Amino acid sequence: MIWLDFCMFLVLMSLFLYVFSYSTVTLLHRIYLFLHVVFMLWPLFQFASQTTSHLMYRLFYLSLSYVGLSLLGIGWFVFTMHLIGQSYVVRKSRLLLLALPALASLGAVVWNPNGAFLAVDTSLEPLKQLQHGDLYWVLITQLVFYMLLSLFVLLNKLKPSEHSPRQRKMVKTALNGFLILSFFALLDLLVNVFLIDLVARYIPLISVGMTLTAIYIVHAISRNRVFDIIQIVQRDVMNTMSMGIIVMDENDMVIEVNKVVKPIIRLRVGDFFHYASFASQFSEETAKQFTAFFEEQRKRPMERLETELCLESAFNRYVVVQSAPILNHKKKAIGRVLTFHDVTELRMLLEETNIQNELLHERNRELLIVQDELYQANRKLEHMAITDGLTGCYNRRYLLQQMEGEVAANFQHGIPFSIFIFDLDHFKKINDRFGHLCGDEVLCSTVQAVRSALRPTDVLARFGGEEFTVYLPHTNREQAEIIAESIKNAVEQSKTFTGLEESVISVTISMGVVSVENIAPSRLDDPKSFLREIMAQADAALYEAKYNGRNRIVKRKLA
Ligand code: GH3
Ligand code: MG
Ligand code: MG
Repeated sequence: MIWLDFCMFLVLMSLFLYVFSYSTVTLLHRIYLFLHVVFMLWPLFQFASQTTSHLMYRLFYLSLSYVGLSLLGIGWFVFTMHLIGQSYVVRKSRLLLLALPALASLGAVVWNPNGAFLAVDTSLEPLKQLQHGDLYWVLITQLVFYMLLSLFVLLNKLKPSEHSPRQRKMVKTALNGFLILSFFALLDLLVNVFLIDLVARYIPLISVGMTLTAIYIVHAISRNRVFDIIQIVQRDVMNTMSMGIIVMDENDMVIEVNKVVKPIIRLRVGDFFHYASFASQFSEETAKQFTAFFEEQRKRPMERLETELCLESAFNRYVVVQSAPILNHKKKAIGRVLTFHDVTELRMLLEETNIQNELLHERNRELLIVQDELYQANRKLEHMAITDGLTGCYNRRYLLQQMEGEVAANFQHGIPFSIFIFDLDHFKKINDRFGHLCGDEVLCSTVQAVRSALRPTDVLARFGGEEFTVYLPHTNREQAEIIAESIKNAVEQSKTFTGLEESVISVTISMGVVSVENIAPSRLDDPKSFLREIMAQADAALYEAKYNGRNRIVKRKLA
């Protein structure tokens, strides 16, 4: 049954190693732990071997202590490489090759063929009972090999001055550890192997060496906080970020909380996060939102949820709260991270932008109104520039301009057109008799009468005083005569009421009419002078109408 105890020890030891290899400790922690266990094996089993005289147990314990010793060199080397930041030397692909000497020595210890590694001869005096065979030197050689390799790398690393002070400190720590260990190992070999006859007793020097090395390294580690560097960085990162973070396990116990959370809620590592009491510290509305958020999170624990809340009662700030599950490698939720991101500035900026936008919109609207007013004023000006203020007809300038453009096109395409010039008969008398204002009214009602006889395409313009011109596009002689006649009649029938005793004024007009049809191509050369000629002809016709007694139409045809 004694083996059961030992088996239990092995199980416990394996569990111990398992926890350290799979828990979230740094790789350097794990490697040091391995080395430390290796350190412990030698003295423990050396001691155990001396507690029994039973040959088989003694050999067994001794073998176990040599197992530890076999792993010492490679363990030390790997640890040193990681400590000084040279872990690439012992990366996984190379590790097996590097561990070959140690594995060979381990094989020799376990196999121990015919006591070729170690034999115990109880017939000899106690000090000579341990017989080291040829394979023992495999162990010694591989130890020396790893020690020399470590020394080589350490000295190499110590030379260049470009390394940081922290790195130099690490190299010095490893070198000092190396020196302590090597010194005692060599002393042990000297005293307990070579000079055993002289010393005449076993002195556990290498155990002392291992212990002193371990003490030195543990001291250096705690003083320089080598292993804590990752945690220190993590904590720094957590506390320097602007986001509040609460990490909880599956029972809502706080595992980690950073400083930013403090003003929102007083929580320490180990406290339980009570959703209800957390929500209740805010206004009723916010508390309701919080509760709804946490309920949603409970319903969908595997999802990442987000909400924006206004923490008015605390400090009138807007905060985006995010809740996300922490999943293990089997995708099972093992906790939860709550983050609080203050978005007040962002919100204020957004609101400010909205206000500015609204203002801009308003300005834009005002500008559009001004623009419209300007457009209307412009249109009015344009209209004024081309019309006659009294009668609303086009003015002389506009008509001539219009005709200049159109007459040339009419010539080119052989389109007929006509021109009327008419003048009110004896208008001066009306003025003299009824006054200028009445005269103005007569002018207006005459224009109205003329318009009623015109088509929308005909252009009526006041040429000056009581003289008017009409341009009639697409109008041949016959059509022109009909229109001229109807104008004359319309004017004759139109009446202006003066408000005086003889209350109604009637006027007549005399008119010169020129129609242009089938123009000879030679006339096309100078349309402007041709236009002048047309106007002169119309004027002459009007003069003729006046001369012949007024209230009549005189026609001319130009071809
Ligand atoms: P005729 O039959 O030969 O054309 O005789 P008339 O009196 O109409 O011709 P005349 O050229 O002798 O007189 C034209 C008058 O028209 C003179 C001028 O005072 C008047 N007149 C010109 N423009 C205006 C105006 O805008 N308003 C008024 N009320 N009278 C005007
Ligand atoms: Mg006149
Ligand atoms: Mg006149």
